[in-house]
Amino acid sequence: MADGVATGLRYPWTTPPKGDDAIEVAPGVLWMRLPLPMKLDHVNVYALDDGDSWTVIDTGFSSNTTKRIWSMLMNGPMAGKPVARVIVTHHHPDHVGLAGWFQAEFDAELTTTRTAWLFSRMLSLDVQATPTPETLAFWRSAGMDADTFEKRTAERPFNFGDVVEAMPLGFTRIQQGDTIEMGGRTWDIHIGNGHSPEHATFWSRDDNLVISGDQILPSISPNIGVYATEPMADPIGEWLEACERLKELARDDQLVLGGHKLPFTGLPTRMRQLIDNHHGALARLLDFIDTPKSATECFAPLFKRSIGEAEYGLALVEAVAHLSHLYQDGKATRTRRDDGAWVYQRKG
Ligand SMILES: [Zn+2]
Repeated sequence: MADGVATGLRYPWTTPPKGDDAIEVAPGVLWMRLPLPMKLDHVNVYALDDGDSWTVIDTGFSSNTTKRIWSMLMNGPMAGKPVARVIVTHHHPDHVGLAGWFQAEFDAELTTTRTAWLFSRMLSLDVQATPTPETLAFWRSAGMDADTFEKRTAERPFNFGDVVEAMPLGFTRIQQGDTIEMGGRTWDIHIGNGHSPEHATFWSRDDNLVISGDQILPSISPNIGVYATEPMADPIGEWLEACERLKELARDDQLVLGGHKLPFTGLPTRMRQLIDNHHGALARLLDFIDTPKSATECFAPLFKRSIGEAEYGLALVEAVAHLSHLYQDGKATRTRRDDGAWVYQRKG
C-alpha cells in the first residue's frame, strides 16, 4: 500500500547502488541492490564484514541474472572474501531466493527463524501445475470476478520454487531475545509478524544500525495478506502487535536498513505512520461496509487508487486480511453470498 511521501524521515543516500556497486553505509556494512521482475523492481541486500568472511543479509530471487550480479559483487566490493553465513529475514522469495545456492555452492551457514525456514522449505517443495481446490475455494470466498477466476483456474499458478533455489537440509535458528554477532557488532534480535510470520529484525547494541527486512519500510507499507494456507489468519492483528512492540525500541538517530527503498532515519515517526496507516484503512473500510461487501469490492476505500491486473493478487490478499481482522475483532459480521463469496458488514 503506497502512503506517499513520509514526512519526518531523512534519506542519507538519495541514489541507490546499481549493478555491481555497493555503498558502505557504516564501517564494514555494504548496501547492495538486486533487480526484481515486478512492479516493486528491486530488493536491498547487505553484507557485513566478519573479518575473514562475510555475513550476507537476504539474497534476491533465484535467477541467472541474480547469480551473475552476486558473483560480480563477491569479486568486486566484497573483495573475494568468502560468504560464510547467509541470514534470511523472512521467507518471501525476494529474500530467501538464493539462500540454498549460498549453502550448496559456498558452504555458507543459513541462519533464520524456524518459521521462515519451514515455510521456505515447504513452499519450495510444493509444486502445482494448476491451482489447488483450496486455492480456488479461497479465491471464490474473496469474491474474485468470474473472468479473472476462469483465467487463473486454467493457468499454472506462481510456484515458489520457480524463483527460489532448492534448499538443502539444515539451518541455524534465531528467535526473539537472542543476540547475534556480525559485522563487528552485537545485535539484538526482535521478531516481527504480519507481513510474514516470525520475521527477524536486528538492532545493533554498538551503534545506530537497524536491519529491518520488510517489517519496517519507508515510503511503502509492507503487504499484509491472508492466503489459502491459513484462511483464518489475522496478520493485521499480528502486524499491529509487532509495530507497537518494535516502536518502543525506535530512536531518532537510528539508521534503518530495510529490504526495499532507501535507508532512512526517523524511525519513531515511521512506526507511528505504519500503525496509523492501518488504523486509517480499517476505519475507511468499516465506513464502507455499511452494506455487505466482498473483499474484491473493497479495493477503492483500502487503496485509494485503481488496482491493475499486476497488483490484483496482492490487493486481494490484503483486502481479505483487513476484512477478516474486522470480523475477528467483532466489528463486522460475515455471510456467504450466493456466488460463494464471503460478504462482510459493519455491526450495529
Ligand atoms: Zn521483500
